[in-house]
Amino acid sequence: MSKPLSDHDRRKQISVRGLAGVENVSDLKQNFNRHLHFTLVKDRNVATRRDYYFALAHTVRDHLIGRWIRTQQYYYEKDPKRVYYLSLEFYMGRTLQNTMVNLGLENACDEAMYQLGLEMEELEDMEEDAGLGNGGLGRLAACFLDSMASLGLAAYGYGIRYEFGIFNQKIVNGWQVEEADDWLRYGNPWEKARPEYMRPVHFYGRTEHHPDGVKWVDTQVVLALPYDTPVPGYRNNIVNTMRLWSAKAPCDFNLKDFNVGGYIQAVLDRNLAENISRVLYPNDNFFEGKELRLKQEYFVVSATLQDIIRRFKVSKFGSREIARTDFSKLPDKVAIQLNDTHPAMAIPELMRVLVDEEKLNWETAWDICVRTCAYTNHTVLPEALERWPVELFAHLLPRHLEIVYEINRRHLEVIAAKYPGDVDRLRRMSLIEEGGQKRINMAHLCIVGAHAVNGVAQIHSDILKATVYVAKRKLIILCSDCVSEPTKRILLLASVLSLYISTRHQEGSQQAVDPKNCHDWRKGLYFNLTASNFKFMSHFSTIRYEVLRLFNIVSLTVALLQAAPGYHTAKMIIRLITAIGEVVNNDPVVGDRLKVIFLENYRVTLAEKAIPAADLSEQISTAGTEASGTGNMKFMLNGALTIGTMDGANVEMAEEAGEGNLFIFGMRVDDVEALDNRGYHAEEYYNRLPELKQAIDQIAGGFFSPKQPDLFKEIVNMLMHHDRFKVFADYEDYIKCQEKVNALYKNPKEWTKKVIYNIAGCGKFSSDRTIAQYAREIWGVEPTLEKIPAPDDKH
Ligand SMILES: *Cc1c(COP(=O)(O)O)cnc(C)c1O
Repeated sequence: MSKPLSDHDRRKQISVRGLAGVENVSDLKQNFNRHLHFTLVKDRNVATRRDYYFALAHTVRDHLIGRWIRTQQYYYEKDPKRVYYLSLEFYMGRTLQNTMVNLGLENACDEAMYQLGLEMEELEDMEEDAGLGNGGLGRLAACFLDSMASLGLAAYGYGIRYEFGIFNQKIVNGWQVEEADDWLRYGNPWEKARPEYMRPVHFYGRTEHHPDGVKWVDTQVVLALPYDTPVPGYRNNIVNTMRLWSAKAPCDFNLKDFNVGGYIQAVLDRNLAENISRVLYPNDNFFEGKELRLKQEYFVVSATLQDIIRRFKVSKFGSREIARTDFSKLPDKVAIQLNDTHPAMAIPELMRVLVDEEKLNWETAWDICVRTCAYTNHTVLPEALERWPVELFAHLLPRHLEIVYEINRRHLEVIAAKYPGDVDRLRRMSLIEEGGQKRINMAHLCIVGAHAVNGVAQIHSDILKATVYVAKRKLIILCSDCVSEPTKRILLLASVLSLYISTRHQEGSQQAVDPKNCHDWRKGLYFNLTASNFKFMSHFSTIRYEVLRLFNIVSLTVALLQAAPGYHTAKMIIRLITAIGEVVNNDPVVGDRLKVIFLENYRVTLAEKAIPAADLSEQISTAGTEASGTGNMKFMLNGALTIGTMDGANVEMAEEAGEGNLFIFGMRVDDVEALDNRGYHAEEYYNRLPELKQAIDQIAGGFFSPKQPDLFKEIVNMLMHHDRFKVFADYEDYIKCQEKVNALYKNPKEWTKKVIYNIAGCGKFSSDRTIAQYAREIWGVEPTLEKIPAPDDKH
């Protein structure tokens, strides 16, 4: 292989030369130097690489400002229906490159840095990931913001500005160790604090019932300080806003009984209030009923609704042009989308504002609330469902508990009228779970309080409809999860994309997969591999079968166990992977033909590097347990083939690419149900399948942990005796399917042909498509590819 290309070389090869624009480049250089001097207060003798990154970030940011102000001005004047995406997570990753791409500045910046003797890739690597998410749910929110801006929707992302995002993962002696993610340490050039828009959020206290309404009194106040981050659309001059709230103690916090000692203590205690936005809970698909988490959920909801209602009131349908605010118009001007149940408190909070503060009657307020809110469900796993203890609610949010009870009373009244005497149905559909500790079922609250409920893949929506929420009158919109176009544009090699587009558009998709093009495709794929200088390929063809089988059983075990709850299990699984790595990677017979590598600290920037380097994507959840998955789509788009079960979005991937172009194996949802009814017994498979037995015995017997033979006993015990995911039932078919993978991998031409069908079929998984569908079917707004005029960036 020739010497890897630098990013600069690569961009030059890909772009048409001269696209950078000479004037643009000299302006950029000038502004870069100005920021280095005035903003960073450095000269080139003492500037660090980080200073250069910040100077470039500020230079690029300047190009957003005029567009941002103009867009918001445009919304104010045109007054379109606003879309509010409420989420406890926005997994944004890095901003610099995405901004340059969307503004069309990438080549010019690259050239400017080159002329200044700087390597852009090195500067980009100085940016911290904004890791304000756990995984798919948070990344989806980030992709949606991008697509909403690209499709010209007047949209806002609302969430929390966590001081510490998802932890940094270190592997120490094979074990996971977490480190705090201090992502704001060097400052964040992309955000703008807006202390002038600070809002009070109330907690605790008690309610007073008066003839003229209910008052929530004696509360403790925490201030919500907004930070705005620009969200540029793809080359349409639109810049939307992501507003994240930070908790701030009020000046008089704890100062009611002022004295000298009390004053110092009161200042120290400000931390208690400000802890609300301190850290992201690292729970993916798992509910941990902590009071601080409930505070976070209400904090973002309360501050956001105040903002939404303020904006509505100054709009044409609000009080700007008529004497009194007409809230009946709220659903025509505002759509609120709840990303899972995490912001579900928006429903009782909107009711509280409309009834207690705006003095609407309950029926009117409820009609407005339902028509404004919509809810996206992300999982059917019971351990992930939010069920808050009533006791905790009563203490923290006493008025909201009363409202939830009233919503439930009316909800059950309707059901009782419809199904007289069906007590079991009342129990099943109640918002309040009785028996033992009383809990509020937040999914039920969302389903009752929203006009649309959607799952994140066709099969997931079908399962929701069929099992969990039987007899709901609500429309369930069928959507598939997805990734945003710029995520794709970054992940996917420009060379492959242009080859694909030109072949497909000129000759039609059949010609695109003509084997004569395969050579070019392969070249295109490997081109990026070399450029990203990342060696993570699996070569199955030369591996001895025994080792491979072992590897396969372990990977099957590991992948299916990802969904297991609790830190302890997750950590043990990581330890098992690293232990297998220690054995396999040092085996003299295996040599360098197979390596087990645990990618430490997986995050958006690592995904961008690792996913394009993969040949095979394993999406092997037990059918019915993975709502959608989005990693599967990213691999598909980037030239990997998929081995997977008929679960989540895999089903639609097979539909789009042709089932024969994926490696599909294992039980379908119906098979899993049938097995459940028969009864799953792991030992049947263990006794019948010698290779499975061998692998399990080796794990149990300390083959991978000779110094601690019992280390993995509990994992094995779980697999053998209480495995909810029924891993062993898919084992035999999985191994057979892996043999097909091996056979095909030896035939590069046929392999590549399938890759092309996959890439050609992945269009459905664009979040632009998904957002257009949400816009029309849920929000009642029309997406547009029109641009708004560009501002003059020179002031
Ligand atoms: C896409 C993505 C995820 C979600 O991947 P799944 O395979 O859908 O679980 C998680 N983390 C990062 C960094 C991602 O980019």
